[in-house]
Amino acid sequence: MLRLATSGRIARARLSPPIIAGTKPTPPCLNAKQSVFNARTYRSNCWRPQNGLSARGTQHKTTSHQIIRYVSGKPLPQSRSWLLNLLYRTAALFGGSILVIGVGVVGFFIYDSTTYREDLSHQDIQVSEIALCPRKGGPKNLPIAEVQIDDDDCSEMQRQKNKPKLVILGGGWGSVALLKTLNPDQFHITVVSPTNYFLFTPMLPSATVGTLEFRSLVEPIRRIVTRVKGHFMRATAENIEFSEKLVECSQKDANGNEVRFYLPYDKLVIGVGSTTNPHGVKGLENCHFLKDIDDAQNIRNHIMTNLEYACLPTTSDEERKRLLSFVVSGGGPTGVEFAAEIFDLLNEDITAHFPKLLRNEISVHLIQSRGHILNTYDEAVSKYAEERFAHDQVDILTNSRVKEVTPDKIIFTQKGENGETVTKELPMGFCLWSTGVAQTDFCKRISAALGTSQRNTHALETDTHLRLNGTPLGDVYAIGDCATVQNNVADHLVTFLRTLAWEKGKDPETSEYIFYTCPL
Ligand SMILES: Cc1cc2nc3c(=O)[nH]c(=O)nc-3n(C[C@H](O)[C@H](O)[C@H](O)COP(=O)(O)OP(=O)(O)OC[C@H]3O[C@@H](n4cnc5c(N)ncnc54)[C@H](O)[C@@H]3O)c2cc1C
Repeated sequence: MLRLATSGRIARARLSPPIIAGTKPTPPCLNAKQSVFNARTYRSNCWRPQNGLSARGTQHKTTSHQIIRYVSGKPLPQSRSWLLNLLYRTAALFGGSILVIGVGVVGFFIYDSTTYREDLSHQDIQVSEIALCPRKGGPKNLPIAEVQIDDDDCSEMQRQKNKPKLVILGGGWGSVALLKTLNPDQFHITVVSPTNYFLFTPMLPSATVGTLEFRSLVEPIRRIVTRVKGHFMRATAENIEFSEKLVECSQKDANGNEVRFYLPYDKLVIGVGSTTNPHGVKGLENCHFLKDIDDAQNIRNHIMTNLEYACLPTTSDEERKRLLSFVVSGGGPTGVEFAAEIFDLLNEDITAHFPKLLRNEISVHLIQSRGHILNTYDEAVSKYAEERFAHDQVDILTNSRVKEVTPDKIIFTQKGENGETVTKELPMGFCLWSTGVAQTDFCKRISAALGTSQRNTHALETDTHLRLNGTPLGDVYAIGDCATVQNNVADHLVTFLRTLAWEKGKDPETSEYIFYTCPL
């Protein structure tokens, strides 16, 4: 510490300009021209390491020329006007800039040349004939896509060509999660989905009101599939022929006609998600759903159209109130998130650009069949959401069931505190239907084909390894919203008790097992 402090003092002493008793420590000024050099001498001396002698004042004798030589090591023109000096420096700066820019441009072009792919336009592309003209077969005598047109596109794909065929139905959360963890060397992978993008659903309510742009919610599925050197087919799975291991797919051709074909599999993963549950309510064509990016786009257009209609001088007071009445049917996470988003839009963003009258007449209603919104969540979350909505004047109608939706009103029944049921009507200009999920038609068909091994009417039943019940073991799996793991506790208990009975020397077949249920 001491040494450091001392050397610091010495360094300061050396760097300080020389001070002669009785004189100011400014550089001697002879005339205007010399003063430039003297000022430089002074500055240079301040930064230049000096020996003790020069520190005692000998630097006054050093010419500016010598000092500059010491700093730059190059001879400089001796006598220059300030104009020449300026020109000299400008030229140096200009030359330096040109050099830096030039290096940058050359670097860019070198990098750019590395980003070009091999031009395939002049090469022969190898495509198997059977991929272009597939043979027909199967129960419906449809073309069977045994080989795909991009199977020979590159060496990696050629390597996969003869691997076991893994077909994944759907390009949603379940399928993408699987694709991200798959070993590309293990299978010949094909993804089938009617949408060629993966959708980030949690942010969908934000896209309906413009908080997020639609393009930020989607990712091309082909990009994800490329990682595993897989194949993608934009088609809809219609049915599965389990006995022949064929998936029947449909798609519209370029003329709008439906075409069907079979896709063979060795392993099949069903991840087709779910659809909106209509609950048998009439008039759902007057509602919006929120499952896909198209739904979000339609909702956004509808909201903006209603706001514009409400501004017209020809719109009556009553009609304006109806147009500005936004109803959300379903108090689950999607309904609650959407109600919150729409409240924010109407209260914060719209007021800045639309007449203030609109703000006074806007109303948001949330219809929920249960006693509380977000009833599947923790009680504290549900309570917080209700309090927040009450504060924001979002009208929560609990214990209410929608009976019918017409183009301009929603009819529902509400249970009062005394248990009586009252039928009510609510004029509305927009209704979102988000009352839970149901099985897709495709899953219903599979479920029906598998008979008694599929008893659940809401989802496909699997065992704990996600293998679809009723199919040859290890061939077909179901994941995500379309599936449910069957966990039959009673069956497991019976097996356990039978084993126990056998171990105790009793006949498991003739032993009687009685279950008692205890009221909670
Ligand atoms: C608005 C909204 C917000 C949500 N927010 C959350 C959240 O915050 N947190 C959360 O955990 N969950 C949330 N969810 C639920 C979540 O999105 C689903 O649980 C999840 O998408 C289920 O994944 P999946 O793969 O089973 O089905 P999906 O992601 O729905 O994907 C199904 C895929 O199958 C395709 N498909 C459909 N039919 C066929 C067919 N016949 N043949 C081939 N392909 C077919 C579809 O095009 C789609 O690509 C939200 C859902 C919505 C709608």
